[in-house]
Amino acid sequence: MTDERATDARATDDSETDERESALLAGVPDGLLIGGRWRPAADGATLAVRDPSNGDVVKEIASATVADGLAALDAACAAGPAWAATPARERGEILRRAFDRLQELREDVALLMTIEMGKPLAESRGEVGYGSEFLRWFSEEAPRVQGRYGPNPEGTGRMIVSQHPVGPCFLITPWNFPLAMATRKIAPALAAGCTVVVKPASLTPLTTLLLAQVLLDAGLPDGVLNVVTTKDTGPVSEAIIRDPRLRKLSFTGSTPVGRALLEQAAGGVLRTSMELGGNAPFVVFDDADLDRAVDGAMAAKFRNIGQACTAANRFLVHRSVADEFARRVTARVEELRTGRGTQEGVTIGPLIDDRAVDKADALVTDAVERGATLRTGGTRLEGPGTYYAATVLSDVQAGSSILREEIFGPVLAIVPFDDEDEAVRLANDTEYGLVSYVYTRDLARGQRMIDRLETGMMGLNVGVVSNAAAPFGGWKQSGLGREGGAEGIHEYLQTKYTLTPDP
Ligand code: NAD
Repeated sequence: MTDERATDARATDDSETDERESALLAGVPDGLLIGGRWRPAADGATLAVRDPSNGDVVKEIASATVADGLAALDAACAAGPAWAATPARERGEILRRAFDRLQELREDVALLMTIEMGKPLAESRGEVGYGSEFLRWFSEEAPRVQGRYGPNPEGTGRMIVSQHPVGPCFLITPWNFPLAMATRKIAPALAAGCTVVVKPASLTPLTTLLLAQVLLDAGLPDGVLNVVTTKDTGPVSEAIIRDPRLRKLSFTGSTPVGRALLEQAAGGVLRTSMELGGNAPFVVFDDADLDRAVDGAMAAKFRNIGQACTAANRFLVHRSVADEFARRVTARVEELRTGRGTQEGVTIGPLIDDRAVDKADALVTDAVERGATLRTGGTRLEGPGTYYAATVLSDVQAGSSILREEIFGPVLAIVPFDDEDEAVRLANDTEYGLVSYVYTRDLARGQRMIDRLETGMMGLNVGVVSNAAAPFGGWKQSGLGREGGAEGIHEYLQTKYTLTPDP
């Protein structure tokens, strides 16, 4: 299905804006960062980065070969001992300077994210705030890594428990939050004293390249952070993962790729952190404050154009309020404005590529064929750019693909339920367990939901939960490990127990 309604909202920007964007893009490094130097790929290959709002190539950057990937690991290994021995306070201060610099560069970083990923500028600014916060948070956590010391129960010796950096890490990030997904891994790894090779998503590598330059400017020693961008993702990643010098793999992305990488990581018995897909339930009980639930739904669904692992995927609404809820969200959705994220007033940008549009369209078509009511949207928007109309479906029927698969697009699907047990059964009926949202004014019910919903995170009367100070991560097939909070740095530390006899 196609629709031309949004064409006017996607008018081209003026020439002043074009000049600013060109200058910004020209200042972003276009090489691989290996051992503190920016260099081209060994074979000179490049990859094109596109603006999803119009499909234009905005920059060509180096595309690493397998040899480049291993050279980056060489550099991380060489820099490892000195970085691990660097006082934690000093490591933290470098992260803190990078945080300060990102505040100064806020508008540039936000614009860069909007250009390469498509989200509205206001959301990109929000991501600069959220993403840079990991640098500040872990700059503060670095000096707080502690051990234990005490007598053994027999009274014959003393036990010392100490924490040590795990060693060289490989960090793979997705395209949907170009800054935050990188800082959420890089900051704790560096704070813990690990050196890293980062492979950003080939769709949105520019923000990571700019971040790497910011960290170098903040005083990061050569080789501590290495960046390989590549269109040859599988082979380059596998060579690094299978190298016996690697100690840790941290991946954020889809569950199928995460599963494949876990198999590769098993060879070296690597420490792994996996931040994978989600299928978040958003449960609205009949006693909910409906205004707040609708506000929360808009944030949980349409932030990042629905392309968030934490995006609410299934809206489970008590039958007595389901129609009213659908009516109110539909009215709000019809006020959203689609267009290039740089344009004033735009709230829905393009999806990342054609595949994402095809997927959203296929899921909506399947749901409608199985009996769902299409309240608004349900159309792809004519190009240029990869747009899908913000959509609301109600009465989505059991068995519809949209209830099983991650939508990753601006489609809100409502399923009615009759009682609390049914809500819990439906909410947990997925192999994913990243986040859930619950709206109720009944405190006891809210507490029961904390116990009963099988997710690593929960928003109780709130539609966005992410915070650098909190442990982000999933249960079930949504992943392993936690990013952020007091927990985040421990993903990059290993424990040693030492026994020494009493003198
Ligand atoms: P993806 O799995 O396709 O790619 C993620 C990263 O892995 C990219 O850098 C990509 O280049 C790389 N990659 C792809 N195939 C690979 C392979 N064979 N070997 C090595 N690396 C490979 O995911 P995506 O489309 O970039 O991101 C969307 C997915 O990420 C969604 O499923 C979303 O839920 C998930 N996600 C999860 C979190 C979280 O914290 N749990 C956060 C953001 C996104």
